[in-house]
Amino acid sequence: MEKLGLAIVGYGGMGTYHASTLIPEEYYDIKGIFDIAKKQQAVAEENGLNVYEDLDAVLSDKDVEVVLIATPNDSHKEIAIKSLEAGKNVICEKPVMMSSSELDEVLKVAEKTDRVFMVHQNRRWDPDFLVIRELWDNKQIGEIFQIESRVHGANGIPGDWRHVKSQGGGMVLDWGVHLLDQIHTLVGSPIKSLTADLSFVLGNEVDDGFTVTILHENGIKSVVEVGTTNFVKLPRWYVKGTKGTAIIHDWDLSGTAIVATGNDAATPAPIQAGVGLTKTMAPPSEEATEELPLPTPHMMNESFYFNFFRVVREGAEPFVKNEEVRDVMLLMERIFEEADIVK
Ligand code: NAD
Repeated sequence: MEKLGLAIVGYGGMGTYHASTLIPEEYYDIKGIFDIAKKQQAVAEENGLNVYEDLDAVLSDKDVEVVLIATPNDSHKEIAIKSLEAGKNVICEKPVMMSSSELDEVLKVAEKTDRVFMVHQNRRWDPDFLVIRELWDNKQIGEIFQIESRVHGANGIPGDWRHVKSQGGGMVLDWGVHLLDQIHTLVGSPIKSLTADLSFVLGNEVDDGFTVTILHENGIKSVVEVGTTNFVKLPRWYVKGTKGTAIIHDWDLSGTAIVATGNDAATPAPIQAGVGLTKTMAPPSEEATEELPLPTPHMMNESFYFNFFRVVREGAEPFVKNEEVRDVMLLMERIFEEADIVK
């Protein structure tokens, strides 16, 4: 099948990564880039890429069938609408837009122009997330009823526009959208109730982290936390099931699953805890539990880019669906509306 001609709009951190690492040559022909910064234009030239003069030049190139938007968040909408109206298919970086109403506008144009619009929710392919998905499916720790997903750093908010509210800065829209998207696709159940807090301890006009606890209608509780002031990290995943508990420490997939054997003949002996004694918090006897390795994740059948190729060329089902992305946008709006502020 004929390759898709693709142009990259925004050749910064993520745009260059798409070009150098993500876009498969087998299915795509990179026709060039457009970036408003002269410096990035020069980098593209050094990398042997064609540089378009402006967005109109990209959109009037008939060989460009796909526009990849990898610009700061506040510019996604305008570029998406112009690209769709010019008859291009669009891959848009996350967070899809600044709000659900912006997204609705864009989706209307995609429908009217009959073009594909798909968001790069790439962390659905993360191996640590796929381990959790495997635990969910294989029931190694029983029925999962609590999922805690965290990313912790100690470097504050990176870069420039990520500090600016009007540009869509802050951690909810940055790492938050990935983690919430993972939980949304995994649990697949509407929100019954939610509590959240946003951290502003670094004194920026945007959140430097947040915690949200969601009770889903199917009874599952999820906790999602992003921190940029965490000099000691909590585990990437902590998951409780009816038969056991699993932990994944980091993206290296180190971790373990401890499950109950059902052999509770030996009741735990009380232990000294602080100045008191406890049996409740004593470790279970050796016979009562078993340590299992984490399951091997089932890797996804197709990459984001191969799926997008098939959606455009064959009318295949998009792996990242716009309804899902919209649900997560609504969830983030709810977090902004309802969260307490920590300063
Ligand atoms: P960046 O600042 O490194 O790069 C953005 C580039 O866009 C800059 O070179 C800038 O000059 C250019 N630009 C700004 N406005 C433009 C416009 N109107 N037209 C053309 N070029 C323009 O930012 P980044 O880290 O690359 O982030 C870009 C997008 O990618 C954001 O939406 C971000 O959330 C997303 N992102 C996604 C992931 C992921 O894992 N999916 C990771 C990082 C960033």
